[in-house]
Amino acid sequence: MGIAVLVLAAIASGCATPAQEETGGRSGAAALKGGNGPGENGPGENRTGRTVDGAAGALLPPAEQARRAREAAEAQQVARAVAARRWGLAQTPLAAPAPPAVKPRIGTRKGFEVDGQVSESLPPVFTTVPVKERVVFLTIDDGAEKDPELIRMMDELKIPYSAFLADYVVKEDYGYFKKMQDKGVALHNHTLNHRYLPGLSYRQQKKEICGQQTNLERRYGTRPPLFRPPFGNYNRDTLRAAKTCGVRAVPLWAAEAFPDRMEWREWDKDLHPGDIVLTHFRGPGDWKGSMPDMIRRVMKTITAKGYAVAKLEDYV
Ligand SMILES: [Zn+2]
Repeated sequence: MGIAVLVLAAIASGCATPAQEETGGRSGAAALKGGNGPGENGPGENRTGRTVDGAAGALLPPAEQARRAREAAEAQQVARAVAARRWGLAQTPLAAPAPPAVKPRIGTRKGFEVDGQVSESLPPVFTTVPVKERVVFLTIDDGAEKDPELIRMMDELKIPYSAFLADYVVKEDYGYFKKMQDKGVALHNHTLNHRYLPGLSYRQQKKEICGQQTNLERRYGTRPPLFRPPFGNYNRDTLRAAKTCGVRAVPLWAAEAFPDRMEWREWDKDLHPGDIVLTHFRGPGDWKGSMPDMIRRVMKTITAKGYAVAKLEDYV
């Protein structure tokens, strides 16, 4: 009975978080609120001067707001434990800390720069977000496998993730990713046709990247701020082209998850605070398991090492 009430409270608090946070033109200040979706109150409309944490909490004193937030977080963790058992996870995923008040300054990883990286203010390329907390970020690429179980599983477990979409596979069913977006998942750019970009001219690259920006805007109402080049391969033209159509950052990855193993970029074969984890929308025909199998495997590693999965868009 107690658990049922807490679960309901958790579900209710989950609903209070606006699903759609991403707009191409959002300001940094709006992003810091962590909850202002398109068309909702911007920071300038907060006339009380208090922290706005959902409409219901807007008029409460700060101590009461803090107490409610704590209770909601506890309830959400109870609900997550129930969901973790239901989905067969080895451990309950850890709760992520509150998003940072100010996003970290992210530079390009050493050795990943192109000519003009700094002088032309090209979007930074990185594999890890500079944070101190034990959080990692989960990113899923391409879009070939469209398993409804994945959307349900992640929603029930309240595990955030970001999708980097390539149109040549996504176009088989745009509706699948719309459902994902409706659950609060940010959809980002992974080009139209998943080509090896350094083999293309500037013009061709621009078509691959900016064409997908326009396509995603038409399909999902968002011009993503984040772009990931296919295979992680890029050159100066890639970053120049991406910048012209609104890309702010180019997150690569520090580790890659499969249903049966992890692959690591770093010599120590370990996770580090802020690491970006890559995986793919793939099915049993492509690798050894389903999408839920892959999630069970990667979450086992992440949780056992004491990390929580945080929302990439809260930090980048
Ligand atoms: Zn890809």
